[in-house]
Amino acid sequence: MTILLTTLNARYTHASLGLRYLLANMGEWQEQTKIQEFVIGAKTTEIVERILQHHPKIVGFGIYIWNVEETNKVVGMLKRVAPHVTVVLGGPEVSYETNEQDIVKQADYVITGWGDVTFPKLCSEILNGPKPIMKVHAGHQPPLADIKLPYSLYSDDDIKNRTIYVEASRGCPFKCEFCLSALDKTAWPFNIDAFLAEMESLHQRGARLFKFVDRTFNLNIKTSLKIMQFFLDKLAANPDDPVYAHFELVPDHLPDALKEGISKFPPGALQFEIGIQSFNPEVQTLVSRKQDNQKAADNIRWLCDHSTAHMHVDLIAGLPGETVESFAAGFNKLWALGPHEIQFGILKRLRGTPIIRHTEPFGMVFDPHPPYTILANQHIDFPTMQRLVRFARYWDLVANSGRFTNTLPVLLGDTPFEHFMAFADWLYANTDATHRIALDRLAAMVQKWLVQRGMDAHEATALVASDVATGKKHTHDTPKAAAPQRQVRHLAA
Ligand code: SF4
Repeated sequence: MTILLTTLNARYTHASLGLRYLLANMGEWQEQTKIQEFVIGAKTTEIVERILQHHPKIVGFGIYIWNVEETNKVVGMLKRVAPHVTVVLGGPEVSYETNEQDIVKQADYVITGWGDVTFPKLCSEILNGPKPIMKVHAGHQPPLADIKLPYSLYSDDDIKNRTIYVEASRGCPFKCEFCLSALDKTAWPFNIDAFLAEMESLHQRGARLFKFVDRTFNLNIKTSLKIMQFFLDKLAANPDDPVYAHFELVPDHLPDALKEGISKFPPGALQFEIGIQSFNPEVQTLVSRKQDNQKAADNIRWLCDHSTAHMHVDLIAGLPGETVESFAAGFNKLWALGPHEIQFGILKRLRGTPIIRHTEPFGMVFDPHPPYTILANQHIDFPTMQRLVRFARYWDLVANSGRFTNTLPVLLGDTPFEHFMAFADWLYANTDATHRIALDRLAAMVQKWLVQRGMDAHEATALVASDVATGKKHTHDTPKAAAPQRQVRHLAA
C-alpha cells in the first residue's frame, strides 16, 4: 500500500465524505490507496502506530477546525519516527493563513481548496518525480462533472452504523462574513440524475439516514423537489422501513411548490437545519447577510405548524453590533415561532473568513486556539460572554436534548432568554459544572430552581418527573422512524 488517506473525525459515527471523494478520484493510484479513519481523543502513539502498519509512502491528512490540534501532534510524531513518509495536508483549516500554522511547518506539502484533482497529481509527482519544489499547492477546481462520486466507497459497516453524508451541490452564493462558504461566491450543482442513481444504490444497500451537506438545499427548487420526491417514493414503497433526510435551508425562500412537497412527509422523516444567525437588521448588514426577516419568520412558523419536519434553527451570539439585549430579542422571537431546537452558537473566527475586518472597530477578541471562539467584543465583555457560553451549554442539556419538554415552557415563561439566563447563572453557581451533569442530578436542579421561583414543591416534582419518566419511556418505545433518538423525543412531545 502506497498512499494512506486519513483524518480524525469528531465522532465514530461521522464517516468522512472528503476522504472518500479523494479515494474515488485517485485514478491510477486508487488500487494503492486506502482510507483509515480515527476519532479525536485517540492516543497519538496509537494513531501513528496504526498509520505505519500500512507502510505508506504518502499519508494525506484531512485537517478541520475540530482536529487540527490533535493532528498536529500526530504529524509531528509521524515525521519524527518515520521521516521517510511524505505528509500531505488538505482541508478547510489549512486552506487559509496556511504558512502561519504549526502543522504546516511539520508537513511536506499542503493542498489548499479542492483536492479531488490536485491530490492524485501531487502523489504522481512525489512518487514518480521530479518531486515538487513548492510546498503549498492551490487545489484545482474542476467542473463537478469531472469529479467521480464517492458513494460506493461507503462500506456496508458505514451504512449500518454511521451517518451517510451526501451532497447534491457545493458552495453557496451568499456572503455571510463569518462563514467559510462566503468565499465560494456561487453554488455548483452535481448532475442530479447521476446523484440520485447513487442515492438509489445507497438505499438498496440499506442506507436510511442521509445527511445532506449542501449549504443551501432550497436554492434551486426544481432540484430540491426531485430530491424530495426520491425520498417520498422510498417512504411510500417502504413505510415500515423509513428513510430520514437532513437538509440545510435558507429561511426566506420557501415557494409553494416546496411547501407542498414538504407537507407530504410523514413524522420522523425530515430534518431541516435553518440558519437565522441574527434577527437584527443592523447586524445582518454589518456581516453582509441578506435575509428577509419577515419571510424567514413566516416560513419557520409555517414549517413548525404545517410540516412534521424536525426543526433545528441556528443563532450566533457575539456578532459585531449585536448586544445581549438585541440577541435576547432575536432569541425570544425565534422561540415563539416554535422550532424543536435552537442551536445557540458562539461566533468563531474561522480562518479565511472576512469577519476579521470588524476586529478593530468592534473590539473583537478571539481565542487564538481552535475553534477560535470570540471572548469579548465592544458590546459584550468577557464575563458576559462566558455567561452566554454556559447558556448555550445548558440550553443543549435542558432544551435541545428533548428531556424536559413538559417543564421547558414553565421554565421559560414569556421571556425565554431572560428566564433561562437566570437559570443558567444559578445552575452554574450551584454546580460549578457545565459538563458531566447526570440527567437525574439535572432534573433535581431544575425542580429546585422551579421551587425557588415560587412553584409549589409537589407540583414542581410532578412536572419534572413527568419529563424524566417520558424520556425513559421513549428510549424503549421509539416510533417507527429512522430519525435519531433526540429528534424522536422532540417529535413525540
Ligand atoms: S451562513 Fe449559510 S447562507 Fe451564509 S454564506 Fe454560509 S452557507 Fe451561505
